[in-house]
Amino acid sequence: LDIKARESYDWKIERINLPDGEFGVVCYFYDISTLKQAQESLQDADRRKSEFLATLAHELRNPLAPLRNGLELLAIAPHNQATWDQAHAMMKRQLDQMVRLIDDLMDLSRITRGVVELRMGTIDLRTVLNHVVESSRSFIQRHDHTLVLDLPTEPLMVEGDSMRLTQVFGNLLNNAAKYTDLGGAISVHAEQIVDDVVVTVADNGIGIATDQLTKVFDMFAQVERTSDRVQGGLGIGLNIVKHLVGMHKGRIEVASEGLGKGSCFRVVLPLVSVRAKVPATASEVTTAPVLPRRILIVDDNEDAANMMAMLLGKLGH
Ligand code: ADP
Repeated sequence: LDIKARESYDWKIERINLPDGEFGVVCYFYDISTLKQAQESLQDADRRKSEFLATLAHELRNPLAPLRNGLELLAIAPHNQATWDQAHAMMKRQLDQMVRLIDDLMDLSRITRGVVELRMGTIDLRTVLNHVVESSRSFIQRHDHTLVLDLPTEPLMVEGDSMRLTQVFGNLLNNAAKYTDLGGAISVHAEQIVDDVVVTVADNGIGIATDQLTKVFDMFAQVERTSDRVQGGLGIGLNIVKHLVGMHKGRIEVASEGLGKGSCFRVVLPLVSVRAKVPATASEVTTAPVLPRRILIVDDNEDAANMMAMLLGKLGH
């Protein structure tokens, strides 16, 4: 019997009658390697899900303390403008972080159920990247990183959902800032290579160990962190990114020379053929004066309805 290292067998011994009237013994071996492997991967998935729930609880609770303290601060120092501004900015940051986590969670569940729909259009990826960089600028500045955005002068037309692509590159840029120690260098580079657009988001941060490179795109995957790295996350961002890139007929890969050597994420998306190219018409932002309206608010959360009513009231409705 040729038994290999990772194979598992079950066995059974039976007594049988031999033709000459004697008794014999027969031993059956069953190859249960596939079953064993399936059990192991189920246990692994179950363990990761439990870890994920613990991380989720932790990450959702994290912003609550500063939010609560901010509210207390506003209550005890209502007329101090400087305190008010600081508390307000801090609370907004914490709330935005929470909204991002919850949006990611909802996306993950939509992706797992296969109900994500893309609003496809022909778009210039340079517009998306400019927008992403603008939105991330304050986060990057707070970490004292330098950011270089390197785009070609020629349009990079792709067929895609600009909101979802913004999410993809926003996530990569956010990670680059998160996983790079203060004062790091981040670059976003895009170019046309044959029939593709290739975008790289590179940093000189904590890097990724070689054996972890393929795992970072797995659901709930988080490379072990040192305790001083408190920038939260759920380990689902890159999984969502990979799905979204796949839905755009693209692919994503990561390279890192190892821990402490920075990381480079590379996204490849098919270019729209030049003939089919439709010039992107910049949608005009109209800034017409707001007319007071009568608005009916319906919500099963009374606080949410009241708060919305107060806000709309303040806006003149
Ligand atoms: P998280 O919410 O933990 O950031 P992601 O799915 O975005 O989850 O990333 C998965 C893991 O990949 C992260 O926990 C981190 O360990 C690693 N990672 C992602 N981006 C980088 C990067 N730019 N440099 C180093 N490690 C990274």
